[in-house]
Amino acid sequence: MTTSFSPSHDHATVAPAAPTAVPTAVPTAAPQYALRLKQPAFWNTPNPAMEERLLAHWRATGQRQQVDAERQGQPRYWLLDGPPYANGNAHFGHLLNKTLKDVHVRYASVCGHTVTWRAGWDCHGLPLELAVEKRHGPQAKQDPLRFMRQCRDEATHWKDLQASAMSRLGLMADMDQPWLTMDPAREAASLSLLLEMWQAGLLVERHSPVHWCPACRSALAASELEKTSKERLETFFSVPFAPASCEAMTRRAREQGAAWPDGPLHLLSWTTTPWTLWANAGFGHPQAGALSVATLAGGMRVVLAVRARERLLRDYPAMFSHAGHEFDGALDFAGLRGLSLAAVSPLTGLAAPLLAADFASESEGSGFVHLAPAFGPDDFALHETNGVRLDCHVGKDGRLMDVGDVPMPAALQGATLEVASQVSCDLLAQAGRLVHMERKSVETTMCWRHKKAVFYRASGQWALDMHKGFDGCPEGLAQRALAALDATVFLPDEKARAPLALMMSTRRFWTLSRDRLWGVPLPFFRHAASGELHPDTAAMWRELVERVRTGGVEAWQAFAAPPGYTKSAQSVDVWFDAGAAWHSAAEEGGAQADMVVEGQDQTRGWFLSSFLLHAFKSPLPPFKKVMTHRFVVDEQGMKFSKEKGTAPDSGALFAQSGADVFRLWVCSQDVGDEMKWSGTSLKQATQDAKDWRSFLRFHLANMENRADAARPPALRELDRLALHKLQEARSQWHACMEGGRFYQALSCLAQFRQWASSEWFELSKRTLYCAKDGSADLASAQWALRESFLLCTQMLATVMPFACEEAYLAWPGHPKASLLLHALAAHDVPPAMDAALRQAESMLAWRRSLQALVERARGLVEKGTPVCLAFGASPDPHSEEQLRALFPGCFVLPDDHANALDAWEAGPAGDAAPVRAGKPAVRPHRCGRCRDYVRASLDDQGLCHQCTVEVVR
Ligand SMILES: [Zn+2]
Ligand SMILES: [Zn+2]
Repeated sequence: MTTSFSPSHDHATVAPAAPTAVPTAVPTAAPQYALRLKQPAFWNTPNPAMEERLLAHWRATGQRQQVDAERQGQPRYWLLDGPPYANGNAHFGHLLNKTLKDVHVRYASVCGHTVTWRAGWDCHGLPLELAVEKRHGPQAKQDPLRFMRQCRDEATHWKDLQASAMSRLGLMADMDQPWLTMDPAREAASLSLLLEMWQAGLLVERHSPVHWCPACRSALAASELEKTSKERLETFFSVPFAPASCEAMTRRAREQGAAWPDGPLHLLSWTTTPWTLWANAGFGHPQAGALSVATLAGGMRVVLAVRARERLLRDYPAMFSHAGHEFDGALDFAGLRGLSLAAVSPLTGLAAPLLAADFASESEGSGFVHLAPAFGPDDFALHETNGVRLDCHVGKDGRLMDVGDVPMPAALQGATLEVASQVSCDLLAQAGRLVHMERKSVETTMCWRHKKAVFYRASGQWALDMHKGFDGCPEGLAQRALAALDATVFLPDEKARAPLALMMSTRRFWTLSRDRLWGVPLPFFRHAASGELHPDTAAMWRELVERVRTGGVEAWQAFAAPPGYTKSAQSVDVWFDAGAAWHSAAEEGGAQADMVVEGQDQTRGWFLSSFLLHAFKSPLPPFKKVMTHRFVVDEQGMKFSKEKGTAPDSGALFAQSGADVFRLWVCSQDVGDEMKWSGTSLKQATQDAKDWRSFLRFHLANMENRADAARPPALRELDRLALHKLQEARSQWHACMEGGRFYQALSCLAQFRQWASSEWFELSKRTLYCAKDGSADLASAQWALRESFLLCTQMLATVMPFACEEAYLAWPGHPKASLLLHALAAHDVPPAMDAALRQAESMLAWRRSLQALVERARGLVEKGTPVCLAFGASPDPHSEEQLRALFPGCFVLPDDHANALDAWEAGPAGDAAPVRAGKPAVRPHRCGRCRDYVRASLDDQGLCHQCTVEVVR
């Protein structure tokens, strides 16, 4: 024994439960008859207190370092930890994720790899800024440098709390040297990567509408958005055509020989965001389709698409004065081309052009859409191609502001978008222009973090151009990432692949700018007058990288702007920091991680950013394998809520049931689906843990104690069969583990356990308890059990590291300081069964076929008396001893005669050996030692013949 760890047990005062089939009344008066009954210091009940002791022991003995030393020179396995955000306590989802990672890593380790797994945390960004403002007050940001240090402290605080909760799981992760996005070295690496991308021309500046969250006060990347159903306003309003435009339309109609009304006309326009009317820049219409002139209920004549009028007439009959139609098809949208039509912007009174727009449709609204290039990417395209005006009258906080270009009532200053919409509609109504307004529920885009609706807002942003080619990669980041995705293996299913591919192929720009302090800066200096970037940007950037390497991103605060230049206040999207982990973590294991394991929501987050950034450096995928999982929900399938107090308390769970039970539960789940956690699942997992522990305990009580005992020259067929089945289970286990199907891997092992408990152990007990020391059968059984113990604990330790280590250390013969220092020997597919094994297997099948008969017969015998199995003549008769071994607890008669049983049940018809089971006519003798029922008289000590031979007097 090479460790001082003593497996003394908190249950030590409780009498351990005896193995089930062990006779309870062993003749105590005759110690020389003693059976071989050991009581290992390892019990069936999960033992949280022992887990705590093992954690302390592993830490004190430097177990991870010992494993590293043991595996030195072996192939490396790098699991890259996708970082949780260092804000808030660790929740069940974190613990689930870390458990899955740990199972992968333990599997790699037991297969002989040197494992690298540094726990990671994402430490920059808004949630931390908000937490610091909450802790230190809203004025905290006034001193940016101090604020950044407070953010650093805040992140450290949460990181430590999460690490301590996660450590309780017994992770093999390096928690002492975690990787943090806020490590100055990593901040410098991110900044340096960004510089390279800027120099390659991929980082471009765009003044364009981007998704904007007023609560974040920042632009959001596509990966920070989600969809929900929300109410919005549908607003129809009339817009007077400029008089010259009315005339032009009349002229065009006459030219075409069609009738057209005289007098003023309006166009019927439509919007879902009335607050954008203050930035109206024109009206878009479809490229084709017929026009109609309809009379509104108030008598006003409006122009709209024929198909739109038909639809509106059906949906809102009160909108029009009559159901007829006038001038249908006199003009069509294509015919408006070249007329340079204009209308008068509602609310602002500015002239606004009519433009053909691909996105305008006859099947939505009226056919005419109001254009506000600052607040919609489609509208913005018209700004870029047709030069329509771009006004942005909404601030970062999502409130209206006066930008001077458009007249706006004072009441709207500082109004929210919702208020502004209502006021705008009221003003339209007062002017007699509001034709129809209603609230409709539609799919809306929300901020992932704030669950609040986002809107498009034009602002100056730096973005990565995903399509632009660069040196060595003419196809650009997105195409290269897509190719890399093809070369990536997804586990346990392919669900994440398609959404990732879709996001890679459809997003042209990745908006990187964030209006935040706490993060990697976008280190630009802009000329106060010309707006041009400083000519020495690259050199200053390189210098900043060096300063950040030692001083952290705080160094940017001290970086003075050159005279005449202003300094950027924007920082980089946190997904950039996290997504560059492979780059800044090269010391962990090279450029390509073997495995990453994250929740499916990371398809739009960390997975995406990692693939895109890795594509800048290499055509290879950043990870060889990606495992995704769903989330833990309650019994009803609902998300756990911290606010409602429905989230399980992991601390209490670990204290009461231990981490092994939780880990076992995780590994019993199909992680590709939502995992339901409830009291019932805890009970089931606890029972599973007990079954596993009882299985290990049987080994400990009966197996060969010497670690170096040689394989006996002859093994019992039953033991050979057991080892064969174990090898088969191992083969299947490997396949399932490789595929990330942990629940199936566990079930392969459980099947072996169930078979072993019901047949192998059951039929070996007589040998193990009673056989003479040194007998060949005993040596075989003990040796096979030791093989099974070593193999099973190594495989099972991926899931239940505590129980397996505890069992290992409770084995007096354990050769190493820890089970983890063992590695599985190379595994070949087990050879096919030979004739003797097939014979043993068919014998067991025969036994199984008679179990129902034995059960039925139990009803015929009094309590405390055995069922008698009487076998008729068979072509291949068994000896009484063989039959006794096969049916322990029964009284067997190998040669049935008519009067042997008083009452009986007949065995399966057509069996080669006819059998009856029931109440014996003559009471059998029961051996005082082995407790077998025998026909022959016992000796003067009350022993059966076999025991007489076995007991040395
Ligand atoms: Zn937000
Ligand atoms: Zn006996």
